[in-house]
Amino acid sequence: MPSNSSPEPGFARHAFVLPRAPDGGDAVYLAGNSLGAQPRAARDAVLAAVDEQWARVGVAGWEDSGWWATPQRLGDRVGALVGAAPGQTVVGDSTSVQLFGALIAAARLRPGRSVLLSDAGHFPTDRYLATSVARLTGLTLVTASPDAMAPDADTAVVAVPAVDFRTGERWDLAAIVDRAHAAGAVVVADLSHAVGVLPVDLDGLGVDLAVGCTYKYLNGGPGAPAFAYVAARHHDVLDPPLTGWTGHAEPFAMTEAWTPAPGVGRLRVGTPPMLSMLALDGALSVFDGSDSPALPGVHAASLALGDAFLEALPAGVDVVTPREHGRRGGHVAVRVPDAEGRCAALARRGVVVDARPPDLLRFGFAAPYVTLDDARVAARELAALL
Ligand SMILES: *Cc1c(COP(=O)(O)O)cnc(C)c1O
Repeated sequence: MPSNSSPEPGFARHAFVLPRAPDGGDAVYLAGNSLGAQPRAARDAVLAAVDEQWARVGVAGWEDSGWWATPQRLGDRVGALVGAAPGQTVVGDSTSVQLFGALIAAARLRPGRSVLLSDAGHFPTDRYLATSVARLTGLTLVTASPDAMAPDADTAVVAVPAVDFRTGERWDLAAIVDRAHAAGAVVVADLSHAVGVLPVDLDGLGVDLAVGCTYKYLNGGPGAPAFAYVAARHHDVLDPPLTGWTGHAEPFAMTEAWTPAPGVGRLRVGTPPMLSMLALDGALSVFDGSDSPALPGVHAASLALGDAFLEALPAGVDVVTPREHGRRGGHVAVRVPDAEGRCAALARRGVVVDARPPDLLRFGFAAPYVTLDDARVAARELAALL
């Protein structure tokens, strides 16, 4: 059980291997909102799966090593980090695939309505998929900023991120859910930039469906499988579009027609990528180990890192992220000319961040392995380049 103490930034640094800087030392790694650093436990879990399970157990591993049950077992572990009681979350496939399924399943919960309302500044894959889902379902796609959305009796689905991927602004999910529900619409939340860096209370907020990726702040590794959440109240009527065999009630009966598995298990599609799943299994121990701090503490430590960075920035730097703690996710973005060039220059100085077009540099503050010193070094190196 995670503890409620408020940890120092960098509290689990010993549990990670950090990317190398050009001088051979550890980089100041502030790209955890894109690809989290490697937890030692993730590496150990993959090596054990390769050497002891795949090599020595073979096909029996689906049962004997617990592989078959892993999507839901990991779903419950991730669910615990986003306020989901067990049995409502499943891990597998990419965020994009999960989102496609969630948007269509959400639309099917509200037949007769005509609008899919989505964040105008949503992550590209979310925007591209919403466009295709609207065409497939016959809904009209309408876009707006999450804080300006006005769902009405025509709105079937409201699709929003918890945190803006560019600016790092944290949206008021509670208010968005309340407005959507008052209009009778269902909410599909994308938690990719929130899970593992701030507390989310899916059950408490009444979110209907949610998806998110596990390779950012959860450190599951490149291409780690995403997760999908569906509130239990929708399970009986949940009608997903991707009716793969592993989401069947009895996959090994190999029946003629598809019968959905009970509950969220019907969101499973095909054979799960077990090595990636088990990397995530190891990585999650950073968050739910016996000495792991709970997410409010992780969040406070991440905000402290952002504050240290902002305080060390010279006056006049154009910060696009809100400074108020309640409106900030896990990263801070600054607007600079030639963001790509500056990003490369920072990397040569051992500070890894990323650039987003047209002119943003993003600094990700993953509290488990980023220290206050790292945050100040990053600000100093950026200042030296400006
Ligand atoms: C990172 C991110 C994704 C990534 O989608 P993939 O299918 O994993 O590539 C999707 N949506 C949001 C909001 C993200 O931040």
